Amino acid sequence: MEKILVTRSSMPPLEEYVEEIRELWESHFLTNMGVKHKQLQRNLEKYLGVEHVDLLVNGHMALEMSIQAMNFPRGSEVITTPFTFASTTHAIVRNNLEPIFCDIEPNDLTLDVSKIESLITPKTRAIVPVHVYGNICDVVEIERIARKHDLKVIYDAAHAFGEKITLDGVEHGVCEFGDVSILSFHATKCFNTIEGGAICFRDEEFGRSIYRLKNFGIRDAETVDGIGANAKMNEFCAAMGLCNLRHIDSEIQKRQKVAERYSENLEGVRGIRIVQSQSNIQRNFSYMPILVENREQIFTALEREGFFARKYFYPLTNEFDCYKDRFDVSKTPLAFEVSRKVLTLPIYADLSLEIVDRICDVMRRESR
Ligand SMILES: *Cc1c(COP(=O)(O)O)cnc(C)c1O
Repeated sequence: MEKILVTRSSMPPLEEYVEEIRELWESHFLTNMGVKHKQLQRNLEKYLGVEHVDLLVNGHMALEMSIQAMNFPRGSEVITTPFTFASTTHAIVRNNLEPIFCDIEPNDLTLDVSKIESLITPKTRAIVPVHVYGNICDVVEIERIARKHDLKVIYDAAHAFGEKITLDGVEHGVCEFGDVSILSFHATKCFNTIEGGAICFRDEEFGRSIYRLKNFGIRDAETVDGIGANAKMNEFCAAMGLCNLRHIDSEIQKRQKVAERYSENLEGVRGIRIVQSQSNIQRNFSYMPILVENREQIFTALEREGFFARKYFYPLTNEFDCYKDRFDVSKTPLAFEVSRKVLTLPIYADLSLEIVDRICDVMRRESR
């Protein structure tokens, strides 16, 4: 039986990639901010409409190092969501900071901004919101709160590559907001560099810190003044990004067709709620999230027919085994409820509409 997984990586034609890496056989320069790295950086700055992009080995290190570069005192508090991928919470904890979990909003499942201010204490230094499934957080309200309380804002934009939002008639790239936005270019994301990530920012001093931190804290040949790690993107990954970026718009259009077919099939079906997407955004259609009452039944029925949906995000990060007895899940009740109902359905550029119909047939049969 053919297996349909929740996602399938976009890849350029092989010849295009071979052509892209040909130079590397001439230069023998395989990593350490080479020509492919520099070119991808420039192309992304243009595509995303942001001032500066730095490239890293993956999205997680982009987030972890962004937080590290801000030098918050040990034990400072960071307001964030538990309805996210492990990476977001781990990046905070691995920096010796304390995540303070804020509940989510019922429609788009991003941070409930009306609850943020009640969580602020004298130890709060930052907010780390997540643009969940490409739904964009209430960036305006988050900025207001951050200014008022002098907090940094670091967006986990791993789901929101290339998205745009229109506010008061003006279109903005999603990564223009906050002090920093991080992106993931993992193989499973809509734009991939095999593994990879990026940091979008404006402050050049912050940029210099990141550049050093991702290269062991080395300032120059004889000066090491940061406790860095190794988080550089290599030339082969950057080359993959250069190729994939040429095709991204058409890949997103194909994803849109898949998402629309799901919506046509599932809208109004009893027991299935399609997670709402905002009307003022240009989406990338990375995920097809739905909420269902009888998740186990639907999940298993799909699996039996070779369709692998994902319980994403489940469990919440504040109930992970590694955080046992550390956080109180009952403080984020809506996130808890959603994590018990959510399923993300298979979606990728080349998923055939006929298979989407078959997946929806199973869903309709099993839902109640
Ligand atoms: C994928 C993802 C990350 C981590 O990115 P990697 O490139 O896999 O390290 C972080 N946050 C969210 C929300 C993600 O989906």
